[in-house]
Amino acid sequence: MQVAVFSSCEYDRPGLQQALADIGHQARFCVDALAPDTVSFAEGCQAVCIFVNDRADVEMLEHLSAAGIRLLALRCAGTDHVDLPAARRLGIAVTRVGDYSPHSVAEHALLLALALARQLPQAAARTRAFNFALDGLVGFELHARTVGIIGTGRIGTAFAGILRGFGCRVLGYDIAPNAGFDACGGHSVSLAELQARADVISLHCALNAQTRHLVDAAFLANCRPGLLLVNTSRGAVVDTRAVTDALQSGRLGAYGADVYEREAGLFFGDHSRDAVRDPLLSELLAQPRALLTGHQGFLTDRALAQIAASVAESLEDFAAGRALRHRVPDSG
Ligand code: NAD
Repeated sequence: MQVAVFSSCEYDRPGLQQALADIGHQARFCVDALAPDTVSFAEGCQAVCIFVNDRADVEMLEHLSAAGIRLLALRCAGTDHVDLPAARRLGIAVTRVGDYSPHSVAEHALLLALALARQLPQAAARTRAFNFALDGLVGFELHARTVGIIGTGRIGTAFAGILRGFGCRVLGYDIAPNAGFDACGGHSVSLAELQARADVISLHCALNAQTRHLVDAAFLANCRPGLLLVNTSRGAVVDTRAVTDALQSGRLGAYGADVYEREAGLFFGDHSRDAVRDPLLSELLAQPRALLTGHQGFLTDRALAQIAASVAESLEDFAAGRALRHRVPDSG
């Protein structure tokens, strides 16, 4: 079977190529995102493999369906960029990578929290300039602090386990509380209690209608002043305007993010020479207490191998006509 892989990068191409070749399928790689002007790349293929910023809305799914695509294999965990009811109506099965190392993202959340708590970006900039003065670099310890986790699924629970090792009090909120989270030493509480008590809040919920702009000005007003906020989930869970304003006013102590609500078309590429830059992101990045990485929480050797293996399993199941192990519920 031929598979069109969109938004492919140097880091994921060899692993995917090998994993698919091992089971007798051929990958065709396109560096561009899936879009109306690139969709023809999938012609002659039976399956398409996409990543987080490839939008599979109803119009795109209709294009894919007309091109004979019957399997959309996501090489990510989130499904917010796919119109699942439309896929179901068009008979396109959707699979995702549900089982890759949650520690890849959980450790990245920890990295952002620690770097901001200890002012690492400022400290590194100083030492690089041979400035070894410590004034202005007083940090805080995570030990004995209260950390609130919103979204206590796989990644949120892995993060709770790490934080227990740091001696943190770990609170969690989820619309579907997870017993595994409490078994890891976390305490499930209401969202209001989490906001009132947490010194650090880390977002690990899925992006959906309820969580879009969950963190806005009103949310931040109900949190502790000086809060350290971390977002490794999806950019649109946070209202970036509100977070930037809160950093500027000092209401929010620090913001560490791996995602940005307008990252599509920007992240995963080199835009350092673009004449015009996203003004909101520029404003956020100008804040000394903001730290951003370009959606790399998943980018570890182990997670990449698991992603390639999971995509291969989906193709194997699909080609064999059996139940799809990684099928997204509610898809075709
Ligand atoms: P998961 O499905 O195990 O957990 C997501 C949790 O969000 C679930 O427990 C769900 O009940 C909860 N949730 C849904 N709506 C909610 C709401 N309104 N309020 C509170 N909680 C709500 O997923 P996961 O594997 O733990 O991944 C979590 C998120 O991390 C993904 O959805 C994805 O957006 C993001 N992610 C980011 C990266 C990265 O590289 N930065 C990589 C993988 C996943």
